[in-house]
Amino acid sequence: MRDQFSVIFVFLIIALASCSAAAKQSKKTIGSTVSLFMASITPPIIGNLIIIRSGTVVPATIGYYIYFLGMDFMIWSLLKFAVEYCGYKWSTNAGRVIMEILLAVDILQYGFDPFLHQAFTTEPVPVDGFNYYRLVPRLGQAYHRAVVYGVLAVVIIMLVIKTVRSSRIYSERYSVILGTLILAAVWQTFYIFSRTPVDRSMIGFGIFGLLIFYFSLYYRPMRLLDRMLANIASEMPEALFLFDSGGKCIWGNEPAKELTGIDENTFDKMDTILGGKFGDCLGKPDNWFSGFVLGEDDEAQYFVIENHHVNDDKGRFAGSFLTVRDNTGEQRKLRREMYNATHDRLTGLHTREYLYQRISELVQNSPDVRRYIVVLNIRNFKVVNDIFTNEFGDKVLIYLAERIRATLSDNSLYGRIAGDIFAACVPVDEFDMDEMERRFSDYTVGDGSVEYNILVHLGVYEITEQNIDVSVMIDRASLALSTIKDDYHKHVAVYDEALRRNMLWGQHISNQLTDALTDGQIRPYLQAIVDKSGRIVGAEALARWIHPSEGFLSPGLFIPVFEKNGMIVEVDRFMWKSACEILSRWQKEGVDLFISVNISPKDFYFMDVAAEIRGLVKEYGVDPSRLRVEITETVMMTDIESKMKILDELREAGFIVEMDDFGSGYSSLNMLKDMPVDVLKIDMKFLSRTEDTVRAQTIVRNIINLSDDLGISALTEGVETESQYKVLSGMGCRMFQGYYFSKPIPVGDFEELTRSGITPA
Ligand code: C2E
Ligand code: MG
Ligand code: MG
Repeated sequence: MRDQFSVIFVFLIIALASCSAAAKQSKKTIGSTVSLFMASITPPIIGNLIIIRSGTVVPATIGYYIYFLGMDFMIWSLLKFAVEYCGYKWSTNAGRVIMEILLAVDILQYGFDPFLHQAFTTEPVPVDGFNYYRLVPRLGQAYHRAVVYGVLAVVIIMLVIKTVRSSRIYSERYSVILGTLILAAVWQTFYIFSRTPVDRSMIGFGIFGLLIFYFSLYYRPMRLLDRMLANIASEMPEALFLFDSGGKCIWGNEPAKELTGIDENTFDKMDTILGGKFGDCLGKPDNWFSGFVLGEDDEAQYFVIENHHVNDDKGRFAGSFLTVRDNTGEQRKLRREMYNATHDRLTGLHTREYLYQRISELVQNSPDVRRYIVVLNIRNFKVVNDIFTNEFGDKVLIYLAERIRATLSDNSLYGRIAGDIFAACVPVDEFDMDEMERRFSDYTVGDGSVEYNILVHLGVYEITEQNIDVSVMIDRASLALSTIKDDYHKHVAVYDEALRRNMLWGQHISNQLTDALTDGQIRPYLQAIVDKSGRIVGAEALARWIHPSEGFLSPGLFIPVFEKNGMIVEVDRFMWKSACEILSRWQKEGVDLFISVNISPKDFYFMDVAAEIRGLVKEYGVDPSRLRVEITETVMMTDIESKMKILDELREAGFIVEMDDFGSGYSSLNMLKDMPVDVLKIDMKFLSRTEDTVRAQTIVRNIINLSDDLGISALTEGVETESQYKVLSGMGCRMFQGYYFSKPIPVGDFEELTRSGITPA
């Protein structure tokens, strides 16, 4: 008996020591704790070994001390292990401190025991002629046991909680350790009550230690892996088919069954069904994947099929598996997104980027075909939106898109490149200029209650250079388009050499503007404004450029260039300043005349017009009522509210605001009644275009009457003949401007004229 136990104990000591050493080498974080715990089981076993081998009281008592102190050490490291194994943190664990104090007290009492014998004594028990020294517990021993059981209970509770809370597969890690620990604890209890001299339960703790070594460092939950894989396979959204090495289907998951409409018992029919659907693609001993489309157009279904072969340990083909993923939803979404990205939502035509890309590809792929780039722009589209509704505006756009679709063939590309701007790339032989102008330029859109005559302008560029950017081609067509004037009956303009030269000329004079302003090349000319009796009451300041090499430039040449590139701001600022200089001089000389200056629509973009003008009159000490400002109707076409505010501001400051060129563009009598203007300048140029003079006169008379009613005074400009003057006077017009009285002339000449008085031409 004694020898057998000795052998078992020695074996356990060696086993635990080697496992402890091995655990120390482990790369797992818990390795060192496991190592410590296994090392800690050896002292109680060594203690027991000494007890059963000693035969005399002193060594047996030493053995007991080793045993009990070893037990304290073991119980402490068991706790440390359990805390870490269950995934808690040892260093910050609150309960740990209490346990350690209790254990420290226990260790302390064994320190006193040799003198006080308050923990235990021993008594000899002869067994087979050998004296075992059996433990006779005292009060201190009860404390020791309470501490040991207390810690054991805490550890057991921790493991129970973990076992219960973990998923079934994982709980094995905890339940096995828990079971063994309970067993060892029960065994220990049995030893205490049976009062046998040998603590056999140490065998239990030894085995417990070895199990911990295995479970915490080497155990891999194979069942877990198997089950997880099985779960993944049956729950994956793709259809999964498994084939044996002979190519026979042996299993399929739910989606696989759904896809092929088979059940468990007919897996072997799978080959034929899949083959019928996707062709001969099954059980092949190689890895591949491929996309399949079944059906057509909107009905099309998209599948991605992947085949993987599986080899055994020796690299021999063992079988294969195939996944079939129904990609239809994704594909449809992708196609929808593609469509949305490349097609305009409102009209369904290509978007700008996509159109440019397609045109570029087309031009590269067939460079021999002669093609036009055509840009189409709806005139005054802004007004359509403002006067009617946005829905009506949309209708107009859709209508034009439809017309483009119906007119151009499949050989053309077209799209909507901005708000009301469309572009197309059309083979030259399919684009008859006159025919296209007729088809596109003029049509009526109505929605039952309103009808509106839509005017479309077309800019055309023939692609002569294949390698330039599509955006440059579009720019060229747009440039042609921008040359179409509202007052011409021409709706198509072609980009040509003259236009190109014109553009270059524009750039050329733009570069010279700043110098021209400082050198006095640009100067104001004054054109007289007279009252009913022919007396000069004021003048309009009009810019002239006396160019050193180009000669005399009329504003009709350079103003449009600067209006386009925004440099008009510099010209206007200069002109306003010049007008103020003249007015301030006149004021001093007692000349009682006003000067009208022009304000370009672009000025409102680039500066605070009201502040600028107010600042100027202040600087020159000019009475604001002497500086009149002329704005055109186009100013009021965008951002009406803020423009109205600016005009109000100017009027409040004492300036007289005039509406220039009334009758030239989109004149709305309706708009007039809300317009904060004092004077209406009716341009005879536009009216004299009309053949029917009676009609023209009727219009003018009505405008004059209306403006009278609204408290706005009418001024007719462009008066060239005496008869015009007479007729207009008769209609009640009180102010006139025109060649009949005087052309725009240099300031000095004008001052001369005011002194001599006008003798009409
Ligand atoms: P506008 O403001 O309507 O100026 C009147 C234009 O009509 C002037 O042309 C003037 O010479 C012309 N005109 C005057 N009486 C008659 C007439 O009896 N018959 C005809 N056929 N024409 C007459 P101009 O000076 O060539 O200016 C053209 C336009 O250029 C101006 O039209 C104005 O819009 C613009 N402009 C001129 N100077 C400036 C300026 O300093 N700033 C801005 N923003 N625009 C200016
Ligand atoms: Mg004017
Ligand atoms: Mg005018």
